[in-house]
Amino acid sequence: MTTQDQLRQLPSVDALLQDHTIRAFAQRYSHALVVEACRASLDAARQLILSGGDAPMPALIVDDIRARVERAVQPSLAPVINATGVIIHTNLGRAPLSEETIAAMQNAARGYTNLEYDLAAGERGSRHVHAESLITRLTGAPAALVVNNNAAAVMLILAACARGKQVIISRGQLVEIGGGFRIPEVMQQSGATLVEVGTTNRTYIADYARAITEQTALLMRVHSSNFRMIGFIHQPTLEELAALAREKNLLCVDDLGSGALLDTSAYGLAHEPMPQESLAAGADVVSFSGDKLLGGPQAGIIVGKKETIDALKKHPLTRALRVDKVTYAGLQATLLHYLKNEAAKKIPIWTMIAATRDALDARATKWAERLRAAKLDAAVIDAESTVGGGSLPGETLPTRAVALAVASPDAFAKRLRDNAPPIIARIEENRVVLDPRTVLASEEDALLAGIERVARMQ
Ligand SMILES: *Cc1c(COP(=O)(O)O)cnc(C)c1O
Repeated sequence: MTTQDQLRQLPSVDALLQDHTIRAFAQRYSHALVVEACRASLDAARQLILSGGDAPMPALIVDDIRARVERAVQPSLAPVINATGVIIHTNLGRAPLSEETIAAMQNAARGYTNLEYDLAAGERGSRHVHAESLITRLTGAPAALVVNNNAAAVMLILAACARGKQVIISRGQLVEIGGGFRIPEVMQQSGATLVEVGTTNRTYIADYARAITEQTALLMRVHSSNFRMIGFIHQPTLEELAALAREKNLLCVDDLGSGALLDTSAYGLAHEPMPQESLAAGADVVSFSGDKLLGGPQAGIIVGKKETIDALKKHPLTRALRVDKVTYAGLQATLLHYLKNEAAKKIPIWTMIAATRDALDARATKWAERLRAAKLDAAVIDAESTVGGGSLPGETLPTRAVALAVASPDAFAKRLRDNAPPIIARIEENRVVLDPRTVLASEEDALLAGIERVARMQ
């Protein structure tokens, strides 16, 4: 048969839709989805014929359509096992949540809540109350506000306090936060003009002082959260910046990025700045993320002077950047752990940070034994975990990990990602490395079963 004859023999979309299997499909799923799958399947068949292959049998085309429809109704967002040892992994959704946080979010999602309803008065209330008193108690701030994320927090602060005016910032703090997003560009979206001062490595308080004009609204500090400069460097302290702002009647704003509520130096890490320290240093407004070192759901937290926070609450952008009942419920539950002095025990990112070498060694040893029983070349090695999530750059936590010697580490890692649930490992010195620090106890069985399955496919 010629290629043209083969092409002519392919059924039309309409003919496929008459097939009884496909008709049953079209009743169970969206008609548009089934039509799309028919078209895609016929396209693939045409490509096959044009590249010299034989026309697929009608039954094969029907099977292919079924497979396409079934793939399309699988959710694309699903849990993965993070065996990378990067604790706050932005690509993997940042902080896993505490049991109490998950329960609170589920509870709020299921039904109605008093999100904006004052139960005592029986009338409309404010959603801001659900986080504000917790945050002010924990940070000592006079007032607080929650928005969608920290980028939104920075944009809202500048839109409300510096729109059409100038914001002075050091060239050493023009940070790219990942995914190609740059803080200066986020800031510009607020309608404020950035005035850059100093050089990449050295900025003095006098540079800020010289740049202040009638047009200046605020002095901004952005924490260099995901990189570290060493050598011939200088940045003024936040105290100096806040004092200058006060003297000139300007606001001093501090974007902390992560913002830790526990002292990271107690865990053998460098000290990550804490919001209460920024406020004590004199910053008027401080912002940080909910899902970095706080260990909660995605949110941006703004703390500071009551007068400024009140102005932010009334700003029209706040409506566009607000969070829903589920986020409030989760954030409350996470913040309560800090108030109850149980954060280090209950919040997963802190238990991961606090995991001891002995505990990690015991888990890695158990994994290696089981994997060796499955004929894998598994060794327990010294390795490094990192905190990630734009905090503590260059800082590592010594860990014990399992290293698998396999024929092709890249192919093995790819198969691990294809597992259900997907397993994300890292490759080091030509071995597949799995760090127990970021694997939840509840995920261990699925992890080991997944690795064994991939090993059998080799
Ligand atoms: C991470 C980060 C942000 C952005 O925070 P999101 O919560 O991801 O929006 C802003 N500024 C700094 C310094 C950061 O590290």
